[in-house]
Amino acid sequence: MATQAQPEGRSPRAEVSNREIVDHWFDVAADRIGVADDARVVLRSSYREVAVQVPLRQADGRIHCYQGFRVQHNGARGPYKGGVRYHPEVDLDEVRALASLMTWKTALVDVPFGGAKGGIDCDPSELVSDELQKITRSFIDKIAKVIGPQRDIPAPDVNTNAQVMAWMMDEYGKLYGHTPAIVTGKPISLGGSLGREAATGRGVVLCFREAAPLLDLRPDGATVVIQGFGNVGGWAGRIMAQLGAKVIGASDAHGAIHGEAGLDAEALWAHVRAGGRLPDFPGADVITPAELLALECDVLIPAALGGMIHAANADAVNARMIVEGANSPTTPRADEILADKGVLVVPDVLANAGGVIVSYFEWVQNLQHLAWDERKVNDRLGTRMRKAFRAVHHRAREEGESLRVASYALAIERVAQAARDRGYITEADVPYKP
Ligand code: GLU
Repeated sequence: MATQAQPEGRSPRAEVSNREIVDHWFDVAADRIGVADDARVVLRSSYREVAVQVPLRQADGRIHCYQGFRVQHNGARGPYKGGVRYHPEVDLDEVRALASLMTWKTALVDVPFGGAKGGIDCDPSELVSDELQKITRSFIDKIAKVIGPQRDIPAPDVNTNAQVMAWMMDEYGKLYGHTPAIVTGKPISLGGSLGREAATGRGVVLCFREAAPLLDLRPDGATVVIQGFGNVGGWAGRIMAQLGAKVIGASDAHGAIHGEAGLDAEALWAHVRAGGRLPDFPGADVITPAELLALECDVLIPAALGGMIHAANADAVNARMIVEGANSPTTPRADEILADKGVLVVPDVLANAGGVIVSYFEWVQNLQHLAWDERKVNDRLGTRMRKAFRAVHHRAREEGESLRVASYALAIERVAQAARDRGYITEADVPYKP
């Protein structure tokens, strides 16, 4: 199975964890809104955390016991929603942070979901397809009681894809009958939505298009660097190229490449899909991941793992704009450095929300037993992304905040509104904002 790009150069775990990044921004926004201390504990912590063993008998006859997690963070606005990642560094604390990020993301783009995340601490590049299938089915068996199409709906994330979703759906169906709406990001043959695979990358580009006029940029001729040419980065790069932009640098887990005249994004995509490593792409100069980050460009798209832009490398960034395709790619210290340098950052919670928006469309289609054409999916994705971007930009301007703090503030207010309406909290906990 092809694994998502994971370039080197990630923040050392000691600097800051994914959890600290999300909690930091939650607190900054909660201060602005005036959220009471006790309400913060409720809004910050998870509703439910499930940890399960996922044993796998290996070829040598020994059993390796992986750990699987599903964290449901907040369900005030609807069923829990979020991906499942397969990565050796997955742990409960990271999944908690990512679940919380999903709560703010779904609220910000106004889809009727809460936030969740799952993960297994395995390295799919070391497993054959049969083993991955076994792990996936075993994980679903163990969390089946807490998920459901009106309860919690998994989706792809780092190193999981439509095939993994198909196994999940099939396993859940053995227990509860055919239930396409149990997962999103499925193959089209099983009720997946047209446009879902491209959706996160497409959403990144939609954010760039909204933000570009603020810096007098146009897609045509803009120079782009993509850190992590996987599903998100690959689609974003190809769509940018279709709009006339030049992808001048890209990276994957194996290394980084540079081509000042522009790399052929379609050829690069075909190379990666065929199992090729980026440094082997013909005609490009091989550079280090640090050099990639320092390339002079109009837009840098981090689309790999969390913590890639950190205190030690943020000053080297030579982009005018960053559009965060990954979750938590920028540490809070790096964010300050970038702000001082005048780099405009479109935050993850907004920039990569295209995926969950089209997941919502997929879920709606499944519940209605019908399928939309791709144009309808893309048009509706565009409408929602633009609306969310403009609301965030408006708030940021009015309140003198960054796009990130404005995003969190809007999202927290929406979740608080639903929690108040359900009678969970009062106006004294989170002040009402019409
Ligand atoms: N894993 C994606 C994300 O982080 C998509 C989640 C979903 O579609 O539920 O937003």
